[in-house]
Formats: sequence, structure tokens, C-alpha cells
Amino acid sequence: MAKEVGQSGGFDLAVRGGTLVIPGVGQVKADVAIARGKIAALGDDLSAAGAEVYDAAGKTVLPGIFDPHTHIGNERSYDSEAETETRAAIVGGVTTIGIFLRSLDDSYFKHLPAFRRAMDERSYVDSIFHPQIFTEQQIAEIPSYAEQFGIRSFKFYMSGMPGIVKSITDDVLLEGFRTVAALGQDAVACVHCETGALIDQARKHLKERKPEGTLVDWEDAHPADAEALAVQTALYLAKVASAHLYVVHLSSRHGLEVVRAARRAGAHFTVETTTPYLGINSSDENRLLAKMVPPVRLPEHQTALWEGFAEGSINTVGTDNTSRSRKTKNPQCGLHGSKPGFPVLGTHLPALLHYGRLHGVSLERLIDCATRSPARVYGIYPQKGTIAVGSDADLVVVDLEMEKVVRAEELLGMSDFSPFEGKRLRGWPIATIKGGTIIARNDKIVGQRNGRYLLRRPQPAQDLEWFRRADA
Ligand SMILES: [Zn+2]
Repeated sequence: MAKEVGQSGGFDLAVRGGTLVIPGVGQVKADVAIARGKIAALGDDLSAAGAEVYDAAGKTVLPGIFDPHTHIGNERSYDSEAETETRAAIVGGVTTIGIFLRSLDDSYFKHLPAFRRAMDERSYVDSIFHPQIFTEQQIAEIPSYAEQFGIRSFKFYMSGMPGIVKSITDDVLLEGFRTVAALGQDAVACVHCETGALIDQARKHLKERKPEGTLVDWEDAHPADAEALAVQTALYLAKVASAHLYVVHLSSRHGLEVVRAARRAGAHFTVETTTPYLGINSSDENRLLAKMVPPVRLPEHQTALWEGFAEGSINTVGTDNTSRSRKTKNPQCGLHGSKPGFPVLGTHLPALLHYGRLHGVSLERLIDCATRSPARVYGIYPQKGTIAVGSDADLVVVDLEMEKVVRAEELLGMSDFSPFEGKRLRGWPIATIKGGTIIARNDKIVGQRNGRYLLRRPQPAQDLEWFRRADA
């Protein structure tokens, strides 16, 4: 690779001898030189006099992972989890997260300053917000959230979860789509696609039929048809409103088939799945610790998701991290008493690398879906999501051959369990560099946290051309 040295020397840190995975470019053997938190040069044998040197010989260097789908503050306070969950993230190679904020009734103006402060003062990673929209007032305030807090993405639940979030109806969804679309072409409407009425009925029937229930039964409470139908509805309403639909956490073959048909018909939208759906299915021995909404499903769905991932029907991969403790997860309460959600930020990258290899998906494809693709969708590319001169110096050094058994206590989050507990995964991060500083090394925090909340601004049309291309 040609040298791209903007300056000689004056670097703070040099990552030497590794193989870089650059989305859209491929694998390149090169050094990375960093100055003032940015990537300053890429090339061979960069002279790094005076700089700290990280020897990455024989290792793989990835862009910092961007997990676009996390929840903070479901179990403990927002402030507390802003620290603990991002600590698990950085050790696991995740350097930026998207956070789905929750306020069921209040205006977000009551909460946004505190949420933002937490991410500026307590977080190990950079972050963006996606407020979850439930009320007419919140819809009316979307333009102000965009203006005052640099927010360009919002989430809508077609099906709620008892005691956690509320469902919205199609009329509210359409109004939400129109309001988001009016912000500009770059604005994104994220949708939890399950048809609420079908879920409510299925959940009730399951409870009557199987008061105890297993992880396999849980799929009956969230049938794949309810996901497929909701994707269909959301696609139609997004078309009516000319909104950029982002389907969060696709979980089923049925949903994927609707996605494929819509893409064949020329629709442009984005689809996400998560590493738990790619790595865990309903036969899992960790049982109710793996309870989630939508559910982890039968292996046939998992196989379909991998096919969708490899072929490009699925564009991004996140976690849906929701920290819980064993106590509130409470498997002894049975299926219906156990709360959905699990901590998976610390296992995101190892699970992607491990199961991706098992399913024969290329490293380039895996990493694109975990870095550049979500960074483009959410308007933070090329600041994030690549390894390029001028980008933020967020890098993960990975040992692709390292094998390790997942132990919750080593993941450094607040939770005392992992749905991947006991699984031997191959491919682990050994160092995470964020904003030019080595923050984590060999599963330990070694640097000062420097996470920031990222303000987003409307993007010019030429930066959105990728979205209209078939291969995006
Ligand atoms: Zn979620």
C-alpha cells in the first residue's frame, strides 16, 4: 500500500505490523499512525519516533465496532449503566453505540440533558441516541430533538412489551414516519416489527396453554408471522411517507422472505439483525437466560438469517444489549415471569467472528455490517466505521485464533450472567483503541475513558448516494 503520510513524525501512537480490515477496500497489511485522536497516516514502516508503539504483528486490526442497537438503564440507573455497559463494550472491541432511549409518556426534553451528560462524563464509548416515540407530543417534538440534540433517528414499537414499552397503532406510525422524513433524507425511522394484536393474542393463549413453558414455547408467543406481517406493513407505510425504514433485530425466516421480496421490487431500506439471533437458538442450554423479544428461534430461522446476512438482505448487526441480573431475569419464575433481555455487548465481536466463520461468511462482510454499514445509515461515516486518514482513531486489535470460554464475570458489565455463558468462541479482541488511546488490553481497562455523545447534523444528498445503490 502506498504511503499516505500527511506529516512525518509527530504521532502519538503507532499500531504496527497488523493486517487491517478496511470496509470496501479489503485486507491490507499496513501500520496505522495516530495523532490527536485521529488516524494521521497509513503505510509501511511509518517512522514513529517518539510515539507509543503497539505491536500488532500477526494480528488483525479492525475499525472500532459500532453497535447501533443498545439499551441503557433498564435494570439500574441510566448513570450507572452508562458506565458499566460501555465498560463491557470497550473491552469487547465496541467503540460506538446507538442507544434506544425510553420515556413512555414524558417529553424527552425532561431527560435528554441528563442522558447526554451521562454519555459525556461516564461512558467508555462514543454514542448516538434513538428516542423511542410513543405519544403525539413526542412526535410533535421530533424536529426540536433533531435541532437541539443532533438526533437523526427515532424508534417505533408496533408491538410493546407488558410493563416495559407500549405498542403504537398504524396511524401513529405513519404520522411518525412523515415527521421523521420531513427532517431530511438522512433521517431514519427504526421500527420494532411485530404486529401488536397478534402478539397480545398469542401471548395470552400460551399462558393459558403452558403456564410453565420453555424457551422453545416462547416462540409461540411471538410467532414469526407476526414479524413478517409487521415488516410488510412498515414497508408500505414507509413508502407512503417516503421515510428511510430501518427494521431492527430481524429474527425470522418469514421476516427475511418479506425483506427479499421488497428488495426485488426495488424498495430501499435497512435491515438489522443481532449477534444473539445469529449465535443462539431456542435449543440453547442456557434456556431462560436467553429469553428475548423477539425470541431466539428454531435453528432453521438462524440458518436463514445467516443466508440473509451473507447475501446482503441484512445490512447491519447490533446486539439489543439490555443488561439484567440473574435475579430479575429470574428463570425460577418460569417462562412468563422471566424478563426479556440480556447483556451481550462484551460478546458481540467474538460471537460475530466465531459464528460467522462457522457459517462461511467472509471477514470483510462481517466487519462491514458491524462498522461501515451502520455508520453510514446513522450519519457518522467516515468519522466512524472505517480505517482512513482523518477518521477517529478507534481500532480493535483481534486475535482471530484465540479461543476462550465465555464467563460473565470477565465481561465487566453489571450482569452476573451471559446468554453465551460456557460457550467456547474463537476470535477475540486483545486491545481496543478509542480516540487514539489504548483503553482496553487483554480484558482489562488500561486507559482513561474518553467517550462522547455525538451530535449529528443533516447530511448532504451526495453523502447518501450509497443508499440508492442496489449493493448498499
Ligand atoms: Zn432493542
